Amino acid sequence: MFEVTTRLPGRLGRTGVITTPHGVIKTPAFIAVGTHAEVKYMLPADVHATGAQGMLSNAYHLSRRAAEIDAAGGLAAYSGWNAPTVTDSGGFQVMSLGSGLGKVISMDATAAHQSRQAKPENERLARVSDEGVTFRHPTDGKVEVFTPESSMQIQHQIGADIMMAFDELTSIDDDHAYNTRALERTRLWAERCLIEHEHLTKQRAGRPYKALYGVLQGARFEDLRRKAACDLGAMDFDGFGLGGAFNKEQLDDILQWCNSELPENKPRHLLGLSRPDDIFIGAEHGADTFDCVAPTREARHGRIYTLDGDINIRNAQFTNDAGLLDSGCDCATCQAGHTRGEIRKLLKSAVPEERVQAFNLASIHNVRFTVRLVDEIRAAIDGGEFDGYKQAWLKRYYG
Ligand SMILES: [Zn+2]
Repeated sequence: MFEVTTRLPGRLGRTGVITTPHGVIKTPAFIAVGTHAEVKYMLPADVHATGAQGMLSNAYHLSRRAAEIDAAGGLAAYSGWNAPTVTDSGGFQVMSLGSGLGKVISMDATAAHQSRQAKPENERLARVSDEGVTFRHPTDGKVEVFTPESSMQIQHQIGADIMMAFDELTSIDDDHAYNTRALERTRLWAERCLIEHEHLTKQRAGRPYKALYGVLQGARFEDLRRKAACDLGAMDFDGFGLGGAFNKEQLDDILQWCNSELPENKPRHLLGLSRPDDIFIGAEHGADTFDCVAPTREARHGRIYTLDGDINIRNAQFTNDAGLLDSGCDCATCQAGHTRGEIRKLLKSAVPEERVQAFNLASIHNVRFTVRLVDEIRAAIDGGEFDGYKQAWLKRYYG
């Protein structure tokens, strides 16, 4: 399923090729996020034109449509994407719903952190037990249970090429003792996922093979991260998801702890990060694929990525700006000549259709920007020029 092409000398980074029933992914690669089986405000053709090699959808958000997706032939066909697909387990959604916390909080973001303290246990919408996670569905309040087995059943029905094992995501505020207990639960859940996966693979023998990744937790603790990598690395997973709550500043340490223990011949997916500095750190320390909702979400808020740093297109200074979103960009939006001033006007329009057009144009640009960055990193590793490329790129972007 995975072959390493080139190794980054002295470090864990590498390029490679992941083979799936719906095509290959050359790594490192950025996987576009289509939570609900579509990338928001982009057509499948728009996403293909960005060069994105895969799409990641969410098992939790698609759980109520899983049978329908199965009947349509699986996620690739159902979505019209017809290329490699990934689902995450839904664990992050049910858990973050419960704690009210996001995934990664920067140490710099002290104020944001303080305003986002985990809710007291009795106020949480989700409860974790050894069996699984019980939670109230946010739309209708119906009590639902997610277990390793039900996550596997739903993901097999959705039918992505790559699926993630069900794991317990801890919050940034959980201590070592809690993380130790949660990690053991995740290990037991990983075993249960593999058993159910094997059963479903046999039961659904006519379907294309679905790879299963084990997801590593362990928060910011070196002993737990290494233990997770050793435990899951010894199991029969096809690859690994690198997840969990940690401070952004620790990303390189955490990746080195995990990836130095994991088997070299299996792919690793870094869950939910796409800031350029995170991508460079990820690629340098052995992450093969990345996904993040930020490029499209930020595009809708007017945050446009440029090689000289991001801009907020909503700012008045861009009202009459006749320049492209980023000079030298090869995305479909920039190639068609749409200007900053024009997209700003559409984004601030009172006409819904015009705002939708702005969301589309800006999303195309930001996704292409991210895909291109990762593609260039891959070429730089293959060409033996990673360090020079990284230094020049980051210097220009962060100033
Ligand atoms: Zn562009």
